[in-house]
Amino acid sequence: MKQILVLNSGSSSIKYELFDMDSAGPLESGLVERIGEDESCLKQSFPASTSTPPSRSIDVSVPDHQQGMELIRRALSENASFAGGRHLVGIGHRAVHGGETYSGPTLIDDRVIETMKQLVPLAPLHHPANLIGMEVARSAFPDVPQVAVFDTAFHQTLPAFAYRYAVPQDWYRRFGLRRYGFHGTSHAYVAKQVARHLKRPLADVNTIVFHLGNGASATAIRGGVSVDTSMGLTPLEGLVMGTRCGDLDPAILIQMGKQSGMSLDQMDEVLNKQSGLKGLCGANDMREVLAKESAGDEAAALAVEIFVYRIKKYLGAYHAVLGRLDAVAFTAGIGEHSHEIRARSCSDLESLGIAIDAARNTSVEPPICEIQTSESRVKVVVVSTDEEFEIAEQTLACVQNAGN
Ligand code: ADP
Repeated sequence: MKQILVLNSGSSSIKYELFDMDSAGPLESGLVERIGEDESCLKQSFPASTSTPPSRSIDVSVPDHQQGMELIRRALSENASFAGGRHLVGIGHRAVHGGETYSGPTLIDDRVIETMKQLVPLAPLHHPANLIGMEVARSAFPDVPQVAVFDTAFHQTLPAFAYRYAVPQDWYRRFGLRRYGFHGTSHAYVAKQVARHLKRPLADVNTIVFHLGNGASATAIRGGVSVDTSMGLTPLEGLVMGTRCGDLDPAILIQMGKQSGMSLDQMDEVLNKQSGLKGLCGANDMREVLAKESAGDEAAALAVEIFVYRIKKYLGAYHAVLGRLDAVAFTAGIGEHSHEIRARSCSDLESLGIAIDAARNTSVEPPICEIQTSESRVKVVVVSTDEEFEIAEQTLACVQNAGN
């Protein structure tokens, strides 16, 4: 039996999920949240088939990540399937940014930690928390190989003409300013699921994946390889998101800086947290936005139009990038659950060979389901993403390659 533990460490939380890699199923998942605050807690969930209750929440004091990791270790030890960690062959860490250094899952050692520290300027909010998670997990499980799986790694295959911005070369050479792309683990997983579902080799299938969650991104994938993606140097670029603006004329920043007197930090806050759907209509949760639209709210109706229009523009652009398009895949919260957004994003695209069947679109069965009409040349597929499982698979492959 082989088990992999997946960890996702944020500034005040550690999420975890334990997988049995033989059955490809989860054994337990959970999180420690509000680390360092007055009311921290541990939440655990178990698959429906086990004798344990499906979920439980325990209020405990968790002053720092070290104690949070210790709590997770103890919680796992109480799970009979964990068998005291005897079957644990690796720990996979979700890591936000691998810069140009990491293009695949990487076995963590002191040198990797040092290199990752140098990448902090590329993701100043997330990277330090990722590093703390790695350090505490290494001390809690010193004998288990640990692997970093980077959100950016899948997009390291982008050609230079897709990842470079048309700014002075020096900005790239000295400051690393280029498109890196994010959500790579999800895009990679979804592309594989689509090919498997179509019973075709991954290398033969061209797919555009729309990951539409609170953060949203599109990726053009040729034969399993990312060739362009909508997020850029940071996750701010591209599609309209819950609270992020997506594509913007860069002169807006200059103009607003001059006219409003806002500082760079204030503009950062507005563009990342007060824009997107929220900025346009006051709500960032797509369910709420759609409900407002149904109730006659004009700002919400416009917000949805802008949201789907941007998706459609990327669909057309990436269709041109790929030349031959086999499948369009929708995933994450909005992509998996909103038939309205899927229908509106793909409306009037018959000339591109894309047409959604209304009945199929409203009766989607997870984890994967085709929703195109019988005339549609391109398959339109709804896929339940599973970033944690993809991290577990990449971790196992990395550990096995390293001969552990
Ligand atoms: P995150 O990026 O935080 O992982 P998720 O993938 O969970 O986000 O997606 C969250 C988004 O999915 C929210 O905007 C939420 O409103 C939307 N969503 C979830 N269920 C539905 C639904 N049934 N209809 C429309 N939107 C939905």
